[in-house]
Amino acid sequence: MSLLDMVREAGVIGAGGAGFPTHAKLTSKAEYILLNGAECEPLLRVDQQLMKLFPDEIIKGFEAAGKLVGAAKGLIGIKGKHKEVISILRNRIKALQVSDFIEVKELPDIYPAGDEQVLVYELTGRVVPETGIPIKVGCVVVNTETALNIYHANLGEPVTEKYITVAGDIPKRLTVKVPVGTPIIDVLKLSGIENFDDYAVIDGGPMMGPVMDNIDGYVTKKNKGFVILKKQHSLIRRKSVNIEQARRVNRSSCEQCRMCTDMCPRYLLGHNMQPHKIMRALNYALDDVEGQKIAQLCCQCNLCELFSCPAGLYPKSANLYFKGKLAEQNIRYKPIKSQFAARKSREYRLIPSKRLIARLGLNNFDRPAPMTEVNMEPELVHIAMRQHVGAPAVPIVNPGDYVQVGQQVGKIPEDSLGAAVHASISGKVIESENGFIVIRRE
Ligand code: SF4
Ligand code: SF4
Repeated sequence: MSLLDMVREAGVIGAGGAGFPTHAKLTSKAEYILLNGAECEPLLRVDQQLMKLFPDEIIKGFEAAGKLVGAAKGLIGIKGKHKEVISILRNRIKALQVSDFIEVKELPDIYPAGDEQVLVYELTGRVVPETGIPIKVGCVVVNTETALNIYHANLGEPVTEKYITVAGDIPKRLTVKVPVGTPIIDVLKLSGIENFDDYAVIDGGPMMGPVMDNIDGYVTKKNKGFVILKKQHSLIRRKSVNIEQARRVNRSSCEQCRMCTDMCPRYLLGHNMQPHKIMRALNYALDDVEGQKIAQLCCQCNLCELFSCPAGLYPKSANLYFKGKLAEQNIRYKPIKSQFAARKSREYRLIPSKRLIARLGLNNFDRPAPMTEVNMEPELVHIAMRQHVGAPAVPIVNPGDYVQVGQQVGKIPEDSLGAAVHASISGKVIESENGFIVIRRE
């Protein structure tokens, strides 16, 4: 079986949160392959520890991915502050004799260094065009954990476990590996908290992750971290505002100061994303469809909403509002040029992570979350058929069947973009409906 087939059979998807099926990404031909080890979301600590613990595996998985796309160069992007990890990676690259192909490049400690387009610019100096993806400028980007999973796929080992940081206002911060399909509440309880009545949980990083409506779900291959904060924490209060509430506040008090635009990472890359204009459209020009289309250039990094706006308004939510309206009418932004250059002011307007963390009120929780061995052996796992971008997997087992850990239980539907899913424990299938295969440990 070719490596590409093995990656597909192993169900590898973008582990950084996007969930795009990796085999589909690796069919492209690219000049550069880039490893996204930026991990720019405050408090999350997965990638930096994986690179320290499994440098050889990650380098080999990354190299294999690079060869698949025919890349001439592989660049590992990691923040310069992780000096020990950088030194380990550089030593191992030399020892594995792949220095001709792979190089480590240090990223500034800014948010959002891990945004794919920011990463491409920082590592190659190229700007992905508006509405484009990195392959438009000859780059394919893979996440650190994805590279590790490619390495394992090459050995015939599918993705059945996930690395997750549990962080926030909790007694015990840690990073753990748990079976896919584990009840999220079991993972949250590793924090030392038993009763979550007074807490809210962010699924992912504090900037882009949503506040969870309920914590009764199950771990998927996309989960990266859970940030647990008291319900009255200012970040939870701000993130809990819905689009309609945000729209009402936005309409009352935008002073058109442009701070949201001047610090927008996409604007600084030379794109036409100008959230202050979207705020203007919301207030004065609800019929100006042309003006609203730029909302589609927003990557939802949340910087404008959680950092830039001095009035505490919600420009990103305004973008989301218009994105939704335009999608309903099938209207799309069309770039008027194909070449873009970063704005000259960019280097003066980058947002240091430390300032962001302080603004978010997370200083007290910006602590290590060490990789910790836990004995996570859930009695039941719920394997979601949709853990990825594309069509949900099709179950290939039935209630009553016995499955082994690593056995494929859901396949990619014919001629579709999707990803296979696998049993994360050995046992009996007791249910296969509502988008889940439920396995009881035996
Ligand atoms: S949304 Fe905030 S930052 Fe943007 S223009 Fe209005 S007041 Fe200024
Ligand atoms: S969320 Fe705000 S800062 Fe981020 S890309 Fe969108 S408009 Fe720009």
